[in-house]
Amino acid sequence: MSIRNIRQTGDEILRKKSKEVTVLNDRLKELIVDMKETMNKMEGVGIAAVQVGILKRIIICKPNEEEKEVVLINPVIVSKSDETEEDSEGCLSVEGYKGDVIRPKSIVVKAKDENMNDIEFDAEGFFARIICHEVDHLDGILYTDKVVPGTLKDLSSEEEN
Ligand SMILES: [Zn+2]
Repeated sequence: MSIRNIRQTGDEILRKKSKEVTVLNDRLKELIVDMKETMNKMEGVGIAAVQVGILKRIIICKPNEEEKEVVLINPVIVSKSDETEEDSEGCLSVEGYKGDVIRPKSIVVKAKDENMNDIEFDAEGFFARIICHEVDHLDGILYTDKVVPGTLKDLSSEEEN
């Protein structure tokens, strides 16, 4: 297990499209362990493999402290509610900032779990928001691309005030 370096905005890799996982080999299993460890160390609620420099469609979400991390391989959002919600987001790759993003209130997700079994489930609220944010990473999209104008805040300048 090891903590991996988080790529920061401006790094070209964050703009690349990640590739589907066909075989979950030992290297990818180790990557998943490291992604969990890195996300928890950084107190993140989600992480995509590209954020540690690996262009594979793997994301991990942790909607709350008590629950175990949810590993999703090749996640696809198959449907989105028409109803949306505006809420604050941050990103381990955009350190020191927060901003509002409009996301669907609920989604249906298809993916493979940590054992490469097919899963499909509904997600709502904050959990749905994290999944949308992480799936965007797999397509080279950052939340700052979608931020509601005027809501992006520099947290360091806020602290000084
Ligand atoms: Zn992010």
